Amino acid sequence: MPELPEVETIRRSLRPHVVGTHITDVAVRERRLRRPIAADFARRLRGAAITEIDRRGKYLLFRLAGGQVLLVHLGMTGSLSLSAPGTPLETHDHVVITLDRSLVMTYNDPRRFGLMRVAADAELTELATVGRDPFTAAPSIHEWRALVRGRKLPIKSLLMDQRRLAGIGNIYANEMLFRAGVRPRRRAGGLRAEELTRLGEALSAVLADAVELGGSSISDYRDANGRPGSFQMRHAVYDRAGKPCLSCATPIKRIVLGGRSTFYCPKCQQ
Ligand SMILES: [Zn+2]
Repeated sequence: MPELPEVETIRRSLRPHVVGTHITDVAVRERRLRRPIAADFARRLRGAAITEIDRRGKYLLFRLAGGQVLLVHLGMTGSLSLSAPGTPLETHDHVVITLDRSLVMTYNDPRRFGLMRVAADAELTELATVGRDPFTAAPSIHEWRALVRGRKLPIKSLLMDQRRLAGIGNIYANEMLFRAGVRPRRRAGGLRAEELTRLGEALSAVLADAVELGGSSISDYRDANGRPGSFQMRHAVYDRAGKPCLSCATPIKRIVLGGRSTFYCPKCQQ
């Protein structure tokens, strides 16, 4: 599932090609995503100029001249790619958007948990419950204290709570906690000030490194130009159960927490 670094990578790979173009054609081949694509989707997009691409958590916001927004969420398996007009379509290419008659942006999503919708900024109700974006606005130590105060849930579950911090999924929550030396099951409200400081630093460092390396290509994730990320080569704990810790050689442990595979070093993370 694409997380914040993968969505940011896609944003950065689209931006130079897409911002400043006009949408000249829209073909919806499959409406049944997480929510059906609205009947007027194509009509509202045709002719619009794309003025910017923003990101909030895992949402991409294509800003259109006139104040409308094309909101995109990649769900579990969604991707956006750029190609030349006339490139043969693939099975799960659900939405095909032509830009300036010279470039095609295709939304592909085998499992169809993604979302595509056009609305005015104020009508983007999906974003009302999306928490702060920790990449563009990392919490200060005071804000970390407020985030965890009195919270009994495991710190890993809090990191993945999209209403608090938007965009962090299972891979990066595991990696941040390793880098901070904090065990995933620790009660969020029980973390000491120095642990919160380390966690804040680890969060910023992991996200920055992952964006720098173009995200993690676990299954078939690619940026808009078809390039895979390489942060998976740097994973210290994620999907490394039984393998030696990169820091102390203790075997990495796997548990299930909140229904998700959770990996940690029993020695480095207390
Ligand atoms: Zn270790």
